[in-house]
Parts: sequence; structure tokens; C-alpha cells
Amino acid sequence: MGHYKAVIGLEMHCELKSNSKIFSSARNTYNETPNDNVAPVDMAFPGTLPVVNKKCVRDALMMSMVLNCKQPEYMYFDRKNYYYPDLPKGYQITQMESPVGVDGEITIECNGKKKKVYIHDIHLEEDAASLDHYFDTSCIDYNRAGVPLLELVTEPCLSSAEEAVAFLEHMRSAYKYCDVSEADTKKGQIRCDVNVSIMDEDATEFGTRVEIKNINSFGNVYDAINYEIKRQSELKDQGRYGEVEQETRRFDEESGTTIRMRSKVDAIDYKYFVDPNLPKFKIEDSWLKEIRESIPLLALERKEKYINDFGLSEYDAGVIVKEKEYAEYFEECLNLGMDAKTASNWLTTQILGEINHLDVALKDFYLTPNLLQQITNEVNKGTISSKQAKEIFYKSVEEQKEPKTYISSDMAQISDQSELEKIIETILSDNSAQVEQYKSGKTNLFDYFVGQVMKNTRGKANPVVTKEILKKKLEK
Ligand code: ADP
Ligand code: MG
Repeated sequence: MGHYKAVIGLEMHCELKSNSKIFSSARNTYNETPNDNVAPVDMAFPGTLPVVNKKCVRDALMMSMVLNCKQPEYMYFDRKNYYYPDLPKGYQITQMESPVGVDGEITIECNGKKKKVYIHDIHLEEDAASLDHYFDTSCIDYNRAGVPLLELVTEPCLSSAEEAVAFLEHMRSAYKYCDVSEADTKKGQIRCDVNVSIMDEDATEFGTRVEIKNINSFGNVYDAINYEIKRQSELKDQGRYGEVEQETRRFDEESGTTIRMRSKVDAIDYKYFVDPNLPKFKIEDSWLKEIRESIPLLALERKEKYINDFGLSEYDAGVIVKEKEYAEYFEECLNLGMDAKTASNWLTTQILGEINHLDVALKDFYLTPNLLQQITNEVNKGTISSKQAKEIFYKSVEEQKEPKTYISSDMAQISDQSELEKIIETILSDNSAQVEQYKSGKTNLFDYFVGQVMKNTRGKANPVVTKEILKKKLEK
């Protein structure tokens, strides 16, 4: 198979978090009961009028800024006219002429390398209702009708499935850090259209693209792109790529292939026009300023901070910023005064290990930063060893009792010089034969003496101090 350059552009839809829908007062919550979150506006009842949700506009403007886009002077919406059973009005309210953001760019990391991704635009719109298909009938669920949706469109500037997924992951993380969306693919909150074409390495013109619509997981985006690159490359090898017309396909999860839906040549004319029911309004500079100032640090910025300010390794910092809730846990530990490396070690090893093992979200994990601190404080005071700390951690998580219930004064490590000397002297005089052997060259008996001290103190002797004293006494 010949080697060709792939060109990929993405359209990423993400449902925004809000109390009510974008143009109605119906609740915007994930709801398993069909047609429970519905207001008359969502059903397009005659005489009803949409009212724009300010919070959704604010969040959309924030994401526009995160993508370094230009924001418009005025906010207004367009109607995209088409008929489908999931669209009761016969049009979708969206933005065509003046989106919340245009001409952006954002730097992502892919396989340790930085990559600039160019953004064509980002616009705010309403989601459609959803259809549930049964054996010989289909039902419409209006819960999703009017849920706020942000659509971002990249330029055709990505060149592999890895880059495409890295970009999507980057954006999912940004949506979560900005707290504008749960960005949960499992709840269908993120859906992507993927555009793929190939070209000769030295070609200057793009090939004919194929659009794969409505992919609902990043794994499927990855597979669809690779399948499409392979399919198109084979056509090109056979000299048939020129025959490829611009078409829309869908990804079939079962076979891992893309399947033709329709040609794009007979593209629908949506007859866009400005929605007259939603008055145009000016976006004040002071509002933009306020929004810009409230953008939180995003994953890559936090990562740099953790490395440069707190001395974490690149790897650990990367693990912690991967999920917003990990970063929040970590920062809460620091706010409580915990040492950064200590917090990072606990989080990246024991805690992430346990939430993985127990299959719970970190926010539902029993051992909060406050409770973790009960353990780390005692380690710092020398009351318990780090080995005991781990035992207490697991017991506390298992029995859901505060760590302090397992910490008693008689757990204290014996670090006291004179107390340990007394114990060691007794042990040495009880083992005079071994002491003789040691002195005549059998120095590997050293561990035997350490073992005796540990046995005698039920593991509580401070190993460092014990070894120092033993060395001193045996070398005499
Ligand atoms: P449409 O209006 O039909 O959706 P656009 O020109 O807006 O088409 O492009 C939609 C998406 O297709 C964008 O993400 C863009 O980056 C991508 N795209 C455009 N041309 C190509 C191409 N030749 N190969 C791959 N992707 C492309
Ligand atoms: Mg589109």
C-alpha cells in the first residue's frame, strides 16, 4: 500500500452544563425518563418564544477565549431549516454568520510533542430531540431538545488518528476544568464528526474528503480515521481515488468499518437566516473581561506549575492533571499544608490504585484529603512508620473509619536513642555466640541482629537508628 499523507478536520459537539435549557426553562439534567425535561418551547408549541440563557452564552464565550478565538461584537442566532422528526420547529437555532468564536488556535501535546491546532469557529446552538428505535416503531424523547450545545470546527490541520484523539482529549479536559460541561462521552455529551482525506506526500492540494458523522467515543474516532485512511489509500493505489466523491459515512462499531450513507454533492440548502425571535445584543467589553479573568488554569498550565513550583516529576504531574478531580484533590492536600511530593505520592500510587480497584470516582472515595492528612501528620511526627501508614490507609478505606481510629500511642516508632541502646544491648548479650562469629568475619549476620531488634520491638524500632547503634556496638 502506498504511503500517503492524511488530512483530518474535526467537528466536536459538546453539551453544556446549565440549570435550564438554552432557550427554555426546562431542566437541563441527564434524565433516564423520556420526556420529563420538556417545556412548551422545546415542543415548538405555537405562540411560544425562546429566551436565551445567559449562562450558556457566558460559557460559550469562555471556551471561545480558551481556543484563542475572536469574539463577536454582537450576539445573535440563525435558523438552520430542515425537517426531521427530532426537530419539532422544523429548524435548529444555531450560529452561522457570527459565531461566539472564529479564527482560533490552541496548542496540544501528542506523544510528548507540542502541536498547534487551528480552529475555524466555535458556535452555540441547541441540541435536537433523540429518537429511540424499536422493532417496528420509533419514539421521540424531547429531553435533549434544546439542551445547549457548543460545536467547534477545526481547520483541516490534523494528520493522524493519534493527533485527532489528543485534540479531543485536550478539549474534553478544558471543558471540565472550565466547569462548562461534564463532557461525559458515556452520557452522549460529546459527539464528533470526522473529516478525512489523503494526498501524496508532496501534493499541494487536498484530496476529496469523506465525512464520518456522529461518532460517540474517542476510541471509535481513532478506529474510524485509521479505517478511512486505509480504505482511501487502497483506492488511490488502484488509481480509483479520483472517483471518490465527497460523501457522508457512518462508523459501524461491530465491523470497525465506515459505511456510506449519502453523497455530499447534493448537499442540503438550509436557507439560513437570522432568528427574528431572539433579539441581537451587544457583548460588552467589561463582560468579556470578567469572563476572561475567571478562566481557571487548564491541564497543561497546571502541569507546568506542579513541575516548576512544587518539584513534581513530569510523569506524576501529567498523571495528576489528566483529570480535574485529581488536580483538585492534590491542590486540596496542599491547601491543608501537606508536602507536595507526599501528596503526589499518595495520590498517584495508593489513591488512584484504590479508586481504580474499587471502581469509584475520586469524589466518592472515602479517604478525603482531610482524612489523608490524619495519616501523613502522624508519619511526620514519627508516631507511625511509612509502612504502618499504608496499612492504616487500606484499613481505613476498607472499613470506612477515620485513620485516627487505627492510630494509637503504642504504635509509635521507637526512635529514642537511649531506649533503643538498652534493647540492643540485651539482644547482643543474649546472642553472644553470634556476636563472636560476626566479629570473626561473618558480617552477613548484621541483618540477623536487625531482625532480632525488630522482633523484640514488634517492628516499631526505627530502622535507621537501630542500624546506626548496631554498627557502633558491633564494630567496637
Ligand atoms: P461543511 O460545511 O460541509 O461541513 P466545511 O468546509 O465547513 O464543510 O468543513 C467541515 C470540516 O471538514 C472541517 O472540520 C474541516 O477542517 C474539514 N475539512 C475540510 N476539507 C477537508 C479535507 N480536504 N480533508 C479533511 N478534512 C477537511
Ligand atoms: Mg456540522
